[in-house]
Amino acid sequence: TPAQSKNANSLNIITPAKIDWQVDDTGNQVPVSGEFGDVYFSHADGLAESRYVFLAHNQLPERLASLAPKQCFTIAELGFGTGLNLLATWLLWRQLRETHPQLATARLHFITTEKFPIPLADLTHILTLWAQRAPELAELIASFLAAYPPLIAGSHRLNFFDDNLTVDMWFGDAAESLSKLALDTSIEPPPCVNAWFLDGFAPSCNSTLWAEDIFTQIKRLSCQDTTSATYSSAGIVKRGLREHGFEINKVKGFGRKNQMLTAVMTDAACLSESDSQSKPANSAYNAPDHSIVIGAGVSGLLTAWSLANRGIQVTLLDKSAPLAGASGNPRALLAPKMTPIHHVDEHLHTMGYLYSSRLYRVLNETAAQQNIAPILEPTGALDLLIKANIGTAQIADYPNDMATTLSLTQAQHASGLKTQDVSENLYLPQSGLVNPQALKNTILTHPLIHFQQLAVNNISEMESHVCIEGYDQNQEMISITADNVVVCAAFESHQLDQRIFDCRKIRGQLSWFTPTAEQLANLPKIPLKYSGYCTPFTAQAGDENLNDTAKGQPQFLLGASFIRNDTNTDIREEEHQISRDKLVTAIPEMASVVPTDISGWQGRAGVRTQTPDYHPIVGQLIDSERVWVMSAMGAKGYAIAPLCAEALVDRMLGSFTPLSTAMLARLAPNRTRLQTPLT
Ligand code: SAM
Repeated sequence: TPAQSKNANSLNIITPAKIDWQVDDTGNQVPVSGEFGDVYFSHADGLAESRYVFLAHNQLPERLASLAPKQCFTIAELGFGTGLNLLATWLLWRQLRETHPQLATARLHFITTEKFPIPLADLTHILTLWAQRAPELAELIASFLAAYPPLIAGSHRLNFFDDNLTVDMWFGDAAESLSKLALDTSIEPPPCVNAWFLDGFAPSCNSTLWAEDIFTQIKRLSCQDTTSATYSSAGIVKRGLREHGFEINKVKGFGRKNQMLTAVMTDAACLSESDSQSKPANSAYNAPDHSIVIGAGVSGLLTAWSLANRGIQVTLLDKSAPLAGASGNPRALLAPKMTPIHHVDEHLHTMGYLYSSRLYRVLNETAAQQNIAPILEPTGALDLLIKANIGTAQIADYPNDMATTLSLTQAQHASGLKTQDVSENLYLPQSGLVNPQALKNTILTHPLIHFQQLAVNNISEMESHVCIEGYDQNQEMISITADNVVVCAAFESHQLDQRIFDCRKIRGQLSWFTPTAEQLANLPKIPLKYSGYCTPFTAQAGDENLNDTAKGQPQFLLGASFIRNDTNTDIREEEHQISRDKLVTAIPEMASVVPTDISGWQGRAGVRTQTPDYHPIVGQLIDSERVWVMSAMGAKGYAIAPLCAEALVDRMLGSFTPLSTAMLARLAPNRTRLQTPLT
């Protein structure tokens, strides 16, 4: 019931929608909200209604067709429901991009809110019926369902790269979600919603989407000329829009409906859409042509990827080869760091992990087309620390497809452990192993990303550009100019620009060995997390860190040591031993399985960069127009760098970020914690 949902929401637990089915005018099955008793879309023809009310009456065909190169158009929707509005908009966008070549680098950003998201199984049923009724939607439906996030509160970014479409799904109450959207007024023009789809249930069934706090947010996020459309013409809607700066217009409604409303913002504080359009997008500072990224570790690679996907030319620089630093281990474990669910939406690691796993799965397809090894090998993982960490009761709050517990038999079967009681531990079905080299190789195939080896020693910021100087492999001095620069040089970032916090440096060594067949049969079969982590993996073509004897052989990997204030990267036997000891302490049965002679083990050491508050540094440098930073990922780069890179690039380009205002403040380069002396 709505009352229960309210209670659940205060704990930040998402209440999934309850779908009832009815039969429409033409005998088709149509979904109805069990909670509110209202329809998700018109029983006459939902798709036609969507096109009429939201697309045509926001003039989307004309407005989208006239976007300038690299320009972003933002739609915000209240009530995602079955996603029919998104699908209709996406199809229109696709068709326009086929016929308008200047839209090749333009982008559509669809921000939607949903408090009671439909469970994947019901949504699949609903959208499969649509794919039959409207086969032109079938391909989009398949891509969308494959990307549909778990029902966790917070913002889920779905990128459909081939279509230059970004969808941010904010699960939770719409007024609260909208209030978290960051408006950075230092950017000219600041982000703004260009068109609103007001698609709540009828005000008589559910007034929350037509309340004062919603209209306040609509006004805050709109600019002059922003439009709104809604099927409803109820008094509460007319008044709400009028009192919040919109001029409203009543027009004929869809089908049997007499009236619907369209509206235009005439009283906004910020720039009009036409003003921002009149600046050619490629000359405005917030739409750079060319960016330089310094540092080709996971932060630099993902920043380059996010920039290039907005049509920006990227020169990626590093004094060594890409992934020569801490991000270049043979494998990285992608697993969530669980947090009690009541603050999951503000937990960077969880939201980052969910975005990364979606991104890597999409990139697996790109990798396969290029004959590159898979970027993410889905393995699942078992976290043995959970009892001490957040407690098993709290795992129950999470959807099972993200986190669950296993019985002893199931856990032993999944892990391959024989005697240890691993029941009631956290099982992470969507976890997997990231292959950093495969990710790098895939990212570097992007035609707008150019890697160049350069030991940068100077960054100068001019009024209209930045100039980067350094020495190439032949010790020749090179200088490169660009519109802006992102420093992703981990612990060396501070040397490049003293305004970047001088972070802690933590040495970490990963160890691996080639097990015998007998050892392999008794080693864990999937990644296990304890005070360290271990996992089997198979060396793939392109695995640059493995010596020739390891290639094509099963390997067993243990990690990692954690030594503060040590930047030496030699391999040390004592750290192999530390990792072995950690494993045996956590899982005593491994004492007789993992070899005691570690002299033949291989390893790799890198230096992680960490801030005193453990958050990375993401944002624009203070007193700077063109110098940005993305650094200090600690040991979490593969989980958080992709989402941080999206947020950083959104900030650079003046779009809405998938991170809340509060989260951006926690990551800001000049946050208070980073202004105190390093202890
Ligand atoms: N646009 C949808 C489509 O294309 O299927 C239909 C939306 S339906 C008419 C209204 C939606 O608003 C429902 O999915 C409902 O769960 C959602 N909703 C209701 N109250 C909400 C709130 N306070 N915040 C966010 N979403 C809410």
